[in-house]
Amino acid sequence: MLRCPPLHRAGREAYVSKVVILGVFLADAAFRAERLPRLGETLHGSGFALGPGGKGSNQAVAAARAGAKTHFITRLGTDNFGDMAVDLWRRAGVEPVIERHAEHPTGAAFIFIEAHSGNNAIIISPGVAETISVADIEAQQALISGADVFVTQFEQPLPPARRALEIAREGKALTILNPAPATDISNDLLALCDIVTPNETEAELLTGVKVVSIADAQQAAMALVARGAGAAIITLGEKGALYNNGAESVHVSAVNAGAAVDTTGAGDAFNGALAAALARKWPAERALRYASAAAAISVTRHGTAPAMASDAEINALLE
Ligand code: ADP
Repeated sequence: MLRCPPLHRAGREAYVSKVVILGVFLADAAFRAERLPRLGETLHGSGFALGPGGKGSNQAVAAARAGAKTHFITRLGTDNFGDMAVDLWRRAGVEPVIERHAEHPTGAAFIFIEAHSGNNAIIISPGVAETISVADIEAQQALISGADVFVTQFEQPLPPARRALEIAREGKALTILNPAPATDISNDLLALCDIVTPNETEAELLTGVKVVSIADAQQAAMALVARGAGAAIITLGEKGALYNNGAESVHVSAVNAGAAVDTTGAGDAFNGALAAALARKWPAERALRYASAAAAISVTRHGTAPAMASDAEINALLE
């Protein structure tokens, strides 16, 4: 069995199992119809579902369900979708660090699904989360720098994400960047990341390496480390996940938790559980196995946030 050193940077000794996540909540409204509407057309749908989404919020729910004390930094509107978020986090045990603004709506994603093929067309609007500022982040300096693990993505603007990574780095937090939605990023931003966690598509965009096989993932991960990331974890769907920090590499296979019914949010389940595991100071291989099990459970359930696994469920699968 490959052994792997802990992922933590040197000089971090105080144990505080605390995860802080910066990101976006979106109300996901999914419409099913026989086909997608044409421009100017009104179609009668065959189904509608409204549920909580947004990568950062999903990851925060996953981390909290996995047992980490989890703080989520974002902005919400004073509308019903904002109330949905607050209710979700209360039930999941996420500690929100939020401002609510009356003048902008809470973010939403409208998803049109062609029933027979599953193909979709999506419009996302982060709403008030688009106004998250560097000043908001600096107001949370103590929280961010005191975190055990800090996680962010790219659904909110880049400047506050960058500032938060800097503050986390100046403090004692291990920094995880989930570079989603796929965006190219500079080497100096990568250098603020202890771990960067792209999926296959995002890894290709960041490195130019088309990731199909585990060997491709190895090459892409090494390229990300060469560009400045402390380590890279490439998630590979049913092919599992690959960790590389330039010196050591670990591949863990996907876990079988039953038939997959909805793989949306698998990456969020993985990232949230990974953050919870690393906040416990677990070494890379153990953290990867835990995150893979959490993600495997999530794909056996419908929805994103409601599909996140508890610590007990994850441990039961790993026994
Ligand atoms: P994303 O949702 O960001 O595209 P992936 O598809 O790479 O991310 O999935 C993230 C992780 O979820 C994978 O690394 C794997 O551990 C797990 N996973 C994804 N699909 C499955 C599946 N069908 N069965 C079991 N685990 C899965």
